[in-house]
Amino acid sequence: MSYFRAIDPFPLESPDWNKLGEFYARLGQGRLSTTRCAGCGRTAWPPRAFCPECCSDRFDWVDLPSEGTVHAFTVQETGLPAGFDGPRIFAIVKVHGHRVFSIIVEGDPGRITLGQRVSLKPLRIADDPKGNPRWLPAFTPV
Ligand SMILES: [Zn+2]
Repeated sequence: MSYFRAIDPFPLESPDWNKLGEFYARLGQGRLSTTRCAGCGRTAWPPRAFCPECCSDRFDWVDLPSEGTVHAFTVQETGLPAGFDGPRIFAIVKVHGHRVFSIIVEGDPGRITLGQRVSLKPLRIADDPKGNPRWLPAFTPV
């Protein structure tokens, strides 16, 4: 997929641009990860560069389970940006107590149900301007 840089809706995932580049690097390896505060031990979603509970800025990266359940979802059938196939299923997937806003891929919109088990399947999107691959969290029905 290619398009003008001026309308690029995706984050620059490289550590050169993004303090949370580790999240995207792990996602490209098929791992869903987040930060765990070195001060109080809490995990956060989304990953954070500082802890909202104890204000520490020391953290470790930890992997989350690769499966979760559909907490809520909606189906977008029109108005998708050029280059995106529809219908697109957007979902909040519960993973290890965290609510992950995500996309359901390879799912039949008429068969998605609340509580359904889904498995991580990162979605490769347009490469960054230097040609590095970029990924978004996505899940597929189990
Ligand atoms: Zn903390």
